[in-house]
Amino acid sequence: MFTIDAHLDLSMNAMEWNRDLAKRVYEINEREKNLADKPDRGNATVSLPELRKGNIGLVVPTQIARYVTPGNFLPGWNSPQQAWAQTQAQLAWYNAMEDAGEMIQVNDLASLEKHIALWINENNNQQKPIGYILSLEGADSLITIQHVEKAYQYGLRALGPAHYGAGRYANGTDATGAMNANGLELLKEMERLNIILDATHLCEDAFWQALDNFSGHVWASHNNVRKIVNHNRQFSDEQIKALIERGAVIGGALDAWMMVPDWVRGKSSPQEMNCNLEVIIDHFDHICQLAGNALHIGIGTDLDGAFGREQCPYDLETIADLQRLPALLNKRGYTNEDVKNVMHGNWLRFLKDAWE
Ligand SMILES: [Zn+2]
Repeated sequence: MFTIDAHLDLSMNAMEWNRDLAKRVYEINEREKNLADKPDRGNATVSLPELRKGNIGLVVPTQIARYVTPGNFLPGWNSPQQAWAQTQAQLAWYNAMEDAGEMIQVNDLASLEKHIALWINENNNQQKPIGYILSLEGADSLITIQHVEKAYQYGLRALGPAHYGAGRYANGTDATGAMNANGLELLKEMERLNIILDATHLCEDAFWQALDNFSGHVWASHNNVRKIVNHNRQFSDEQIKALIERGAVIGGALDAWMMVPDWVRGKSSPQEMNCNLEVIIDHFDHICQLAGNALHIGIGTDLDGAFGREQCPYDLETIADLQRLPALLNKRGYTNEDVKNVMHGNWLRFLKDAWE
């Protein structure tokens, strides 16, 4: 079934993990056999051929680069200018994939409809470019507010102001505090340009403030449920209800620590923690119970987002295994119509509404 994945760090994998995503996942992992510089070496699950194999014809991949002040030990750049330059290298990789016929940018209603028409007929997927809607995870790299329009011009259509920790525009996961004047100005500029606000990673103070100060379209590309795994990275029921009221779609993430409670990074294994694809349906179910329907959930896997097979559902070898989800959803009582909506329909409805 045609599938949309609303969150993948493709260019980060290309430019920081040095992965040639035009290759098969098997080849990427072979090449990393003797590398130990990152915990997920040799455990990749995502590449462009694998997306085609899995009928995942449209994705929302990121540009991502953090700015860090002295004493902030998260990985990041020492100036906003360096962070911006890193995102421009990432953009250059997307453009090179376009030139190679591997990907194609989707950035308005016309290009969306054309691309869906190409993919909804499931023949010869191997010949088709993967459509991508460009997003930015964390706004630190936008040197000034004027850079938002620059980014819009090259295709940026969704933006999450925060990532982990303190940000230049908004604080994110594991941090607290309201947005500063720059953050509020950023929201205004996004509204003017009709850039989708990604509520993922906003710390709770910034989350509520952003909803109050932004009247454009809001989604959460990759976010699970706090009732199931209690962590500030996950949404509380109040947050989920507020997003549903705004017409948001929330993408289910396949990072094991966000799926099952008590995951210990580097220690737990998906098998011993019973982390399989069915677990994400528990998160879906919870959101559907709050919504009273299956119209606000979608897929936003975050696969290979600095973790690999060692930290994702054990019954997923590559991202192509997302095609196991329709049967699992049916088994849990989702109708065929619901399943279509989860796999692509809800994101499509959201995008058409946002870009009309
Ligand atoms: Zn993320």
